[in-house]
Amino acid sequence: MKLILLGAPGAGKGTVAKMLTKLDGSVQISTGDILRGAVAAGTELGKQAQAYMNAGDLVPDELIMGIMAKRLQEDDCKNGFLLDGFPRTIPQAEQLKDMLAKLGIELDMAVNIDVPRDVILDRLTTRRTCSNGSCQAIYNVKSNPPKQEGICDKCGSPVVQREDETEAAISHRLETYNAKTAPLIGFYEKEGMLMTVDATSSEAVIEAIQEKLGATA
Ligand code: ADP
Ligand code: ZN
Repeated sequence: MKLILLGAPGAGKGTVAKMLTKLDGSVQISTGDILRGAVAAGTELGKQAQAYMNAGDLVPDELIMGIMAKRLQEDDCKNGFLLDGFPRTIPQAEQLKDMLAKLGIELDMAVNIDVPRDVILDRLTTRRTCSNGSCQAIYNVKSNPPKQEGICDKCGSPVVQREDETEAAISHRLETYNAKTAPLIGFYEKEGMLMTVDATSSEAVIEAIQEKLGATA
């Protein structure tokens, strides 16, 4: 499947994407993971992105479009892809549309995962992430803690609170989402591609997506 996953920070885009990859071999493409990997590796891209990310601001569109133009042409995208955290602005969505048209790729739909704000806030403040840039496993201190406190189950690296997951940065990220990213819902509605799911469990989101794709296939 070829999907865009929309939703506020903490809506569960990453979790849903990871679950969907297991269904049909589609790959998850998370611009946030790519950027954090670049910051951890100290690459030029990482250096340019870091300050924006720590402040909870969006990284400039040109940097993101450069990453995605390359990423979408890699071989593993042929089996389908789940765009997690991209596009994030109207210009990104417009450029993605042109890019896909040129590559002859057609998306199935844009899924808006619509989760209430109090649930989002609770999830973000309790979220912890593996500090290993090539792992980035996600935990939750309440609902899904690592087996050994502070240590990643998968790779043994320290599990930490992301720098952009302090309370101040979180509220700034939510404002940024409302101002810059929420308008994409209207964009994809006009394109006739929007599906909204208002489930709070990731399992229920997956079911709704499967049902919809089954119905249109
Ligand atoms: P979340 O969805 O939890 O906010 P992400 O992991 O998707 O977090 O992104 C983390 C940060 O990376 C964002 O706050 C932003 O600074 C940057 N980022 C990720 N994707 C994009 C994008 N498509 N456009 C601009 N900035 C992005
Ligand atoms: Zn790990």
